[in-house]
Amino acid sequence: ARRGILFVLSSPSGAGKTTLSRRLLAAEPQVRMSVSVTTRKARPGEIDGVHYHFIDEGEFRRRVAAGELLEWANVFGRLYGTPKAPVMQWLDAGHDVLFDIDWQGAQQLAAVTELARDLVRVFILPPDGPTLHARLVARAQDAHDVVAERMKKAAGEISHWHEYDYVVVNRDLEAAAEEIRAVLLAERVRRTRRHGLQGFVARLLRDL
Ligand code: 5GP
Repeated sequence: ARRGILFVLSSPSGAGKTTLSRRLLAAEPQVRMSVSVTTRKARPGEIDGVHYHFIDEGEFRRRVAAGELLEWANVFGRLYGTPKAPVMQWLDAGHDVLFDIDWQGAQQLAAVTELARDLVRVFILPPDGPTLHARLVARAQDAHDVVAERMKKAAGEISHWHEYDYVVVNRDLEAAAEEIRAVLLAERVRRTRRHGLQGFVARLLRDL
């Protein structure tokens, strides 16, 4: 028995974080994905309640005031936040929880004393600038001005890479997915997380 890990993936848009999140969820079905609330509009193909809970600013502010969000931030002029209740239930049930949040959210989770010890932060870097730009353009879901804005903001996001426990360069999707999974598997067996082991080892020693 162990408490779940809060597994944070951050990166600038276009570094492949969404794809890598999906890969991790497919490989590790025990992991739960935290679905954020946001005031931005849904992109084509995005489903309310699956990719995000799309809400207006009034409702967002109400949830902040009611303490319903574990963390929240203004990202590119839109509000994003993590609903607290499902995360706490999953952690208590021993599920690891995956967060696709920015550096501001990662900092806020690290500041919550009772969560900090179960927090594992992974930063995903693109291999180079042109690749990042090409990925944003290829995605073609955003208007050009948003792409340009996100390119500009990428540098700001990347400047927080050193606040993370692990850094993965997404040069090759398979390799990056494997590295991220390896981090999770290793963190699960970290000694300080293995609260039930004392009894197990005691029984083991009795049998020797
Ligand atoms: P997008 O609009 O492209 O889905 O997300 C923009 C940025 O907001 C991404 O870097 C994403 O990680 C971040 N983000 C999404 N949800 C949350 C959240 O709940 N909290 C915080 N702090 N950032 C979030």
